[in-house]
Amino acid sequence: MYDYDLLVLGSGPSGQKAAIAAAKLGRRVGIVDRRDMIGGVCINTGTVPSKTLREAVLYLSGMSQRDLYGSSYRVKEEITVGDLAARTQHVISRQTDVIRNQLARNRVTLITGTGRFADAHTIWVNGESGHESRVTFDKAIIAAGTRPARPDSVDFDDRTIVDSDGVINLEAVPRSMVVVGAGVIGMEYASMFAALGTKVTVVERRDRMLDFCDEEVVESLKYHLRDLSVTFRFGEEVAAVEKHPTAALCVLKSGKKIVADTVMYSAGRQGQTDDLALEAAGLQADRRGRITVDADYRTAVDNIYAVGDVIGFPALASTSMEQGRIAAQHACGEPVRALNELQPIGIYTIPEISFVGKTEDQLTDSATPFEVGIARYRELARGQIVGDSYGMLKLLVSPADGRLLGVHVFGTGATEIVHIGQTVMGCGGTVDYLIDAVFNYPTLAEAYKVAALDASNKIRNIVRIEG
Ligand SMILES: Cc1cc2nc3c(=O)[nH]c(=O)nc-3n(C[C@H](O)[C@H](O)[C@H](O)COP(=O)(O)OP(=O)(O)OC[C@H]3O[C@@H](n4cnc5c(N)ncnc54)[C@H](O)[C@@H]3O)c2cc1C
Repeated sequence: MYDYDLLVLGSGPSGQKAAIAAAKLGRRVGIVDRRDMIGGVCINTGTVPSKTLREAVLYLSGMSQRDLYGSSYRVKEEITVGDLAARTQHVISRQTDVIRNQLARNRVTLITGTGRFADAHTIWVNGESGHESRVTFDKAIIAAGTRPARPDSVDFDDRTIVDSDGVINLEAVPRSMVVVGAGVIGMEYASMFAALGTKVTVVERRDRMLDFCDEEVVESLKYHLRDLSVTFRFGEEVAAVEKHPTAALCVLKSGKKIVADTVMYSAGRQGQTDDLALEAAGLQADRRGRITVDADYRTAVDNIYAVGDVIGFPALASTSMEQGRIAAQHACGEPVRALNELQPIGIYTIPEISFVGKTEDQLTDSATPFEVGIARYRELARGQIVGDSYGMLKLLVSPADGRLLGVHVFGTGATEIVHIGQTVMGCGGTVDYLIDAVFNYPTLAEAYKVAALDASNKIRNIVRIEG
């Protein structure tokens, strides 16, 4: 008899949901993680701290109210790291408490320490005191997540040269910052610091950024960030970072030099599999520390599953949770439905971006006809009330049957209101539904009706001309 029916390695979103799903099915479940990492990267260093920091920045900088009260509007003139950290620490400790409580309520045993495989049914847990305990299990789910990738050539010191973990612990708000890498995490932090008044330079090897998003939306974001004094260096690479007593000097391969108080590297992430002794269980990870799984999240070893960021794309908390739940149900022999294909993407830049479904580029590449319907927030009463003159919602609509092919939102509440479009798409709804539906007034959700009318008028015009 094993100690546990299911053992989960890692208490991030995928591990938690896996553990709770199996416990709800009556299984004896254990979950292993380090004491200071309960809730995973998500709660401690990634999603939750970064989104809380963003909220604090938005509030204290008065950024979202400047359309209404003028560009000099601030809630607090001199924003300190202490102001920002207070809110972050508060949310992290509350969320950790919620997770501990959920695990306890569901009778999931929390095993504190770092796990490593002894064989395919046994792990060693290295506890805080250095004491090792042996734990056996029938099935296991690896939910070990990722950490920031650190190029060997860069001398990180967590003060001047930091990664996305270090940036939340800076001692002061930098006056200037170089962000290396214009991916989602890099751009989220670039926009937060720009809103705080930091002079940000973004260096990106490629010619574009966020190229999986709607191009018009990305152009709007760049316009906004340039307005906050962000400089973009596309098609450029950092050759060296020199540390000097008061600042760092970034030397680009093109020969350009940039002085900055802080350099933040956001150069991808690495699976946290080094500590797991995977080979003892008959498993291995790839060069980037990731584990390969099948459609049911099962690894090459039958009784061991892997979920969340450690299996790679899309590496989001949102999808990780679902992967964890599905893997646990499969491991418990329950019937499961596959992960819904319609997954929204939320990017918490300032302003925020969210979309679901296809982009214009994807539809064009696949020769799928579409019509565009647009609503601008400034034409909505709620847009005026909240002081958002730049936001927009774009619907991509099939002219053949009015189905929604994609929904793209930029501006206030984008990551929330995208779910209306997701629901309509998921239920096979068309623009007609949005045209006929009554929306609360004044809301940003009303943008759906305006955009639906815009698309359907354009479609009607084409039909009329074609006779
Ligand atoms: C700055 C930042 C911002 C982000 N923002 C968003 C966002 O807005 N929305 C979104 O959906 N996603 C966001 N993400 C991604 C999100 O955080 C991850 O997708 C999510 O945390 C992955 O969850 P996970 O379950 O794979 O585990 P993780 O949250 O990565 O946690 C893994 C856990 O496993 C533990 N572990 C590792 N090895 C062992 C071992 N040997 N023994 C025991 N425990 C171990 C670790 O200690 C850790 O606690 C962001 C990420 C970052 C870095």
